Amino acid sequence: MSFSLSSLSQPVSPAATSILGVRIDCISQQQVLDELDQLVAQAHEQRARGEQVVCQQIVTVNLEYLMAAQRNAGFRRCLNQARLAVADGAGVVWAARYLGTPVPERITGTDTLPELAKRCAARGYRLYLLGAAPGVAEAAAQRLQQLAPGLQIAGTYSGSPAPAEEEAIIVRIAQAQADVLCVAYGAPAQDLWIQRNLERLPVALAMGVGGAFDFLTGRQLRAPKQMQRMGLEWLYRLYREPWRWRRMLALPQAALLIIVKGHKA
Ligand code: UDP
Repeated sequence: MSFSLSSLSQPVSPAATSILGVRIDCISQQQVLDELDQLVAQAHEQRARGEQVVCQQIVTVNLEYLMAAQRNAGFRRCLNQARLAVADGAGVVWAARYLGTPVPERITGTDTLPELAKRCAARGYRLYLLGAAPGVAEAAAQRLQQLAPGLQIAGTYSGSPAPAEEEAIIVRIAQAQADVLCVAYGAPAQDLWIQRNLERLPVALAMGVGGAFDFLTGRQLRAPKQMQRMGLEWLYRLYREPWRWRRMLALPQAALLIIVKGHKA
């Protein structure tokens, strides 16, 4: 499978399915990391030619995203226009298989972040961590440097997704000369934040990572591996954070809707 560099402004879709009107790329984590190499190389070439770097977005789509996209056309557009839309969560992996268009694997922001950091360390790419409570991005950066020795952290900042803060945050990221940006503002705020600012974000790639900084630093506990393998991570999350029950109603709602409507919105 190869990616075309000639269509940088277009979402790449080597093979994709659509679930409730949202595109999901049939792509492995390894392919996501290979795509990162191409995008950073492209951004470095753009910088060398004095051109503006065109930031590309990765979205990690779970069943909550699919339900939010039914209610919010702007969010659906954001997901469908992303460079890559990966299947985050057992529910989306199940849905893709149920619809006869399976995806290779589940790709969560939390699992991808350390792998992304290792690739950045190996290639010398600079990583910026934005979001989470004050101090958490700094702690996550330290943890990532343990997991990926040599990793260059371009910067960390908590900030907020409030539009009033955007300008100042963009300036920080520009000054840090980052290649890759991970944004932990929760969904859909983080993905909409990235999309709103794509044209002025001077990084090759930006990705929303939800609670990844909290998991990485032990502020939140991840479900045991066995539960993750059984597709029950959501149940563990509900047990740890019962206030999520209302949000999690989206899971059975999405499953029903997928059975009724399938690929279409
Ligand atoms: N967060 C933030 N600012 C906000 C809202 C959320 O920094 O205004 C952070 C929060 O501290 C947490 C992350 O965003 O680290 C959201 O994590 P969650 O697990 O809720 O993500 P989701 O389930 O929405 O993907």
